[in-house]
Amino acid sequence: MPEFILYDVADGVATITLNRPDRRNAQNEALLDELNDAWERAAADDDARVILLNANGPHFSAGHDTSPDANKDSKTIARIGAGIKQSGTMELYSREARHFLGFSRRWRDIPKPSIAAVQGACIAGGLMLAWPCDLIVAADNARFSDPVVLMGIGGVEYHGHTWELGARKAKEILFMASSITAEEARELGMVNRVVPVDELQNTAREMALRIAGMPPHALAMAKRVVNQTLDIQGQYAAIQACFDIHQLGHASAYVQSGKFVLTDHQGIKKAAT
Ligand code: ZN
Repeated sequence: MPEFILYDVADGVATITLNRPDRRNAQNEALLDELNDAWERAAADDDARVILLNANGPHFSAGHDTSPDANKDSKTIARIGAGIKQSGTMELYSREARHFLGFSRRWRDIPKPSIAAVQGACIAGGLMLAWPCDLIVAADNARFSDPVVLMGIGGVEYHGHTWELGARKAKEILFMASSITAEEARELGMVNRVVPVDELQNTAREMALRIAGMPPHALAMAKRVVNQTLDIQGQYAAIQACFDIHQLGHASAYVQSGKFVLTDHQGIKKAAT
């Protein structure tokens, strides 16, 4: 049984729920593996015509779980393959290629419509759960941010920023480690609808039910034409290239501090000296 994810199918809608509210749905590798299993289950289930991703608790996701013991029981090395077990930066590259770039790309391309319902904080890695969904409905208390420049990195592993927000806003939130509100996200085109927080679930579900009544093959093609257009514009190649730049950030932080991210604003102190 999954520990961190709930899964349910009813009326043509597969509902996947992040269920680690005591940790603000922070993502360890086990949660991400369970989440990917849920997406794959929905992808393979003919009764699941639409996928609805939501989160229990006041916050959608605080991002990656960076606590020291977050992945102590992780099966990732076994899943990557013991035969190619690596160390240092290449191990990090392989782990992040699987859990962050790989999963987000896979979810984005599953040929069924998906909707994310987002409330509260959606920080850094939280964006990588919402952005791959086809539609995003936000509660009016939702806030979106990616403050990882403070950690010596140029943005999370899946560079949706420029595509979702436009170049200038993407730079602003990265440079200033600032957040945008649900309404700003809607104005920028990143969010489809903003509703009062107590209406979030019903609104997302009503949209899912309406879509579930549409012809599945036509929906798959409608999704494909939009995603294919983005990829012809370069989205696929850009996100892959930006993932490698992200890894350069980890390597640079490691050279500076002996850890793959800077802590306690080491980067700011170094720049000031
Ligand atoms: Zn990373």
